[in-house]
Amino acid sequence: MKDAPNILWLKEIRKGDIPSVGGKGASLGEMASIGLPVPEAYVVTAQAFRRFLVETALEESLYSILEGLDVDDNNALESAAGKAKDLILSVPMPGYMAEEIRSAYAGMGSDVVVAVRSSATAEDLPDASFAGQQETYLNILGGDDVIEAVQMCWASLYGARAVYYRSKQGFDDRSVNIAVVIQKLIFSEKAGVMFTSHPVSGEPLTIIEGSWGLGEAVVSGSVSPDNYVFDQTKQKIIDRIIASKEIEIIPDGKKGTKEVSVPEDRKKKQVLSDGEIARLASLGKLSEDHYGTPQDVEWGIVGDNVYILQSRPITTIKTVSVGKIGSSLSGSEKILLEGQGASPGIATGRVTIIKNVKESGSIQEGDILVAKMTNPDMVPAMRKVRGIITDEGGMTCHAAIVSRELGTPAVVGTKKATSTLKNGQIVTIDGDKGIIYEGEVQKTHEARSSDLQTVSAPIVTATLIKVNVSLPEAAQRAAATGADGVGLLRIEHLILGMNKTPQWFITNNREEEFISELYAGIKIILDAFPGKPVWVRTLDAPTDEFRNMEGGEDEPHEHNPMLGWRGIRRDLGAPDQFRLQIEAFKRLWKAGYDNLGLMFPLVNHPREFIQAKSLLREWGVDVDAVTLGIMVEVPSSAILIDDFIKAGIKFASFGTNDLVQYTLAVDRNNEHVASMYEPEHPAVLRLIDYAIGRCRAAGVECSICGQAGSDPKMVTWLIEHGIRSVSANIDAIQKIREAAARTEQRMILNMAYSKGGNEGDRFF
Ligand code: PEP
Ligand code: MG
Repeated sequence: MKDAPNILWLKEIRKGDIPSVGGKGASLGEMASIGLPVPEAYVVTAQAFRRFLVETALEESLYSILEGLDVDDNNALESAAGKAKDLILSVPMPGYMAEEIRSAYAGMGSDVVVAVRSSATAEDLPDASFAGQQETYLNILGGDDVIEAVQMCWASLYGARAVYYRSKQGFDDRSVNIAVVIQKLIFSEKAGVMFTSHPVSGEPLTIIEGSWGLGEAVVSGSVSPDNYVFDQTKQKIIDRIIASKEIEIIPDGKKGTKEVSVPEDRKKKQVLSDGEIARLASLGKLSEDHYGTPQDVEWGIVGDNVYILQSRPITTIKTVSVGKIGSSLSGSEKILLEGQGASPGIATGRVTIIKNVKESGSIQEGDILVAKMTNPDMVPAMRKVRGIITDEGGMTCHAAIVSRELGTPAVVGTKKATSTLKNGQIVTIDGDKGIIYEGEVQKTHEARSSDLQTVSAPIVTATLIKVNVSLPEAAQRAAATGADGVGLLRIEHLILGMNKTPQWFITNNREEEFISELYAGIKIILDAFPGKPVWVRTLDAPTDEFRNMEGGEDEPHEHNPMLGWRGIRRDLGAPDQFRLQIEAFKRLWKAGYDNLGLMFPLVNHPREFIQAKSLLREWGVDVDAVTLGIMVEVPSSAILIDDFIKAGIKFASFGTNDLVQYTLAVDRNNEHVASMYEPEHPAVLRLIDYAIGRCRAAGVECSICGQAGSDPKMVTWLIEHGIRSVSANIDAIQKIREAAARTEQRMILNMAYSKGGNEGDRFF
């Protein structure tokens, strides 16, 4: 598309136009092309950006700044990124180009308020706009401001984070391009979200949530929206819940927005007319039919005009395909290695062994990544691969947690994958059974039949089934499980991903950067769970995980980091680091995210909880208004649970990954003692049973967020012993929901038949 014009209107764009308009632009164009009412927009193409570079003769100076850059040298990276951005901003764009942008803007009408959004592209990646790396500017008014915002989007292609990630992903800066979308902002009078089919069962039931004002109120969960269910088969509304809508977000003059109370007469009024519900459902159907998969749609209405703002796939839980959960191999092939199946699914690919992150550039899309152990700076490479194998680790190590969230099959703890496998060798991994086979192995017939979609009625449980999520990019997959909230959000993955220790940000006076990055990452997950509790855990990283990061050289050397300076003891010992995190949480509470609860890790004495609470109070948090709880992951905290309850915890959650290692003295990451790592050990169960009983008696929510909460057998036992809330990994939600429902029903039947209801005494 070398000859592509500088400007393309949405109606001229289709999904294949990514090289010109980027992933975002192409998706809007495709939506418009099938008749979805997308707000008017045009795109300043990637070719316009190229022409700008060539005609202003910036190209070679730009690339010479970036060539040979060692992105691991932070000073060099920051300085090169700064220079590259300044260079782009230093030269005005050619006059004719600015005129084209200005006249397209004028073509939208007079005084139109627009959003100006980056839409980056790379040669072999549909969308190179990795989360938040390129800029978006909202509420832009006037031709000059639009032109300035376009150039700022171009410059943001060379932000330090963007350059770093591209380099780690092996992208050549010359092949990366950027388009810019200029779209009319819709100041909706009513807005919300819609699942085109039931998000859990996949049934043809369209679920619409709507409230007054801009969609932000629904998406952020700051209002309880109306909920309508439209049956696509019967073509009628089969359920509606009219909520009391307390607030709405509305435009504040021509720029910005403000939150106001909904006037009394509209609070309890049905937001959508029956006609509007049917119209939205039919647009949802159109989108689902076109994309061939259920969609999660954002919509807005102004007067009589309905707009579709975004449509993206939701993964329905019961749609199981070969290569994912439930597949299995025939078992007659040559086994090369065995370890623990850490993330379900089957994958075949070419082995690429990497010793450290510097080698991750050799990873190609579709490879099988083999490493001693993964760590946070390898996450970009982990996103590209089809499967992951490690020498070290167990079910709760970094590789296991991240691969489950990415939905990538993984086998960990093979002891010798890096020494026995060879680069380029083709292997097949079975992430359920923990086996590595030689070559490409065919799936059995039985496995293939699991390709079929099964649809059944949604399962409703009295037990709350929540989900664990740590990577913002997994937020939508996690929310699509229909989970009742997030039972564990580990922020270490966000912090370790910054590649600098919290202390580094303090020492270098860059605290604001840390706070806003943490804020943005958590917000993505909160936004995916409007109105549902999200328990965010304060930092819990052992010192050895910080060592490779910038600033990591100041971490203390410890003989046994698992027993060392981690969890709440670290935050209490270094209150400055604690304060940075709390600042991010305060801003989220202030922004209306009152579904955010805080969970303190590795507490072993109630005084730690009391001390944390008083620091929060000192920093201006209303500790009685927010939800504060603890992880029970040291035996002492289970034994002293009554004292924690007296100290005011609002919830407790079993971190069995640690509780098992600290009760049994078995290192959770040591493959040599993996067979002794026993979550169902009677001592562990007795601690759990005791703490559940005490929490129940006191009316304190008691949950589990360790790996054992993803094991149906353990969850059955927990429910029989009185637990009312569990949190599981994304891939396990469905089987946990089924186990919970079956257990609850069995307990009710036992009671009905007066058989004593004593099932709980039996253990597996
Ligand atoms: C646990 O210990 O069970 C837990 C959930 O925390 P982490 O795995 O992050 O230590
Ligand atoms: Mg833990």
